Amino acid sequence: MNSRKLIVGNWKMHPASVDDAKRIARRTRLVASRLEHTDVVACPPFPFMQACASRRPTANFYIGAQSVSVHEEGAHTGEAGAGMLRSLGATYAIVGHSEQRAAGDSDEIVSHRLARVVEAGLTAILCVGERTRDESGAHFDVVRDQIKGSLAGLPEGKARSVIMAYEPVWEIGAKEAMAPEEVHEMSIFVKKAFSDIFGPEAGLKAKVLYGGSVNFRNAVEIIHTGQVDGLLVGRESVNLPGFTELLKEVDKIQ
Ligand code: PEP
Repeated sequence: MNSRKLIVGNWKMHPASVDDAKRIARRTRLVASRLEHTDVVACPPFPFMQACASRRPTANFYIGAQSVSVHEEGAHTGEAGAGMLRSLGATYAIVGHSEQRAAGDSDEIVSHRLARVVEAGLTAILCVGERTRDESGAHFDVVRDQIKGSLAGLPEGKARSVIMAYEPVWEIGAKEAMAPEEVHEMSIFVKKAFSDIFGPEAGLKAKVLYGGSVNFRNAVEIIHTGQVDGLLVGRESVNLPGFTELLKEVDKIQ
């Protein structure tokens, strides 16, 4: 586990207006600038990204995209290329989120999106996670296959351009997050799968986030006991009081 923590806020399709988006970004940036051990990435919807990016770089605060086209540019109506998102201020981009996988993204499509992200010089946040779980342990195979398929074709030298985010789909939008001990088991598993592809050194250096119903009450225990490098936060990332509290609590972890 790295000592600096990374907290990524996936705003999904919120808030309703650019003014609200600017307000959330301003406040999040202010809180982030006061943190000592924590980096914060806000991922607003595409149309709000530029408004949320600061003209001056702010310590600890970055903008991320929620997805990216498999194409660089061209006749692809409704798509946004990685280079375009970078020019709007993005440093990170989420790929393989379960909501996009549910809308049709296969591992192959995710691997193409990831390739565009890395080529554009952004850092990819690669989401993996099983939809359901039972006693059989089949979720390990599901997650391993997603990791293999989504990272297929990524050159070894680019392994550091990818941050893994383990998000059990059944825990997204749920009442409670996964038990920290189970998060720990999965963070080890994800690192092992990563090292099987890129080698033990890359596996050791790999960053793994947990996502799924994180809030200011459970964040510290998930990072501490779950031994993850940070969190991917959905709902709570646009709830300013809760997210502010979460960031301050996480920053206290040594
Ligand atoms: C997500 O959608 O990536 C997520 C983690 O959502 P929530 O925190 O709302 O469960």
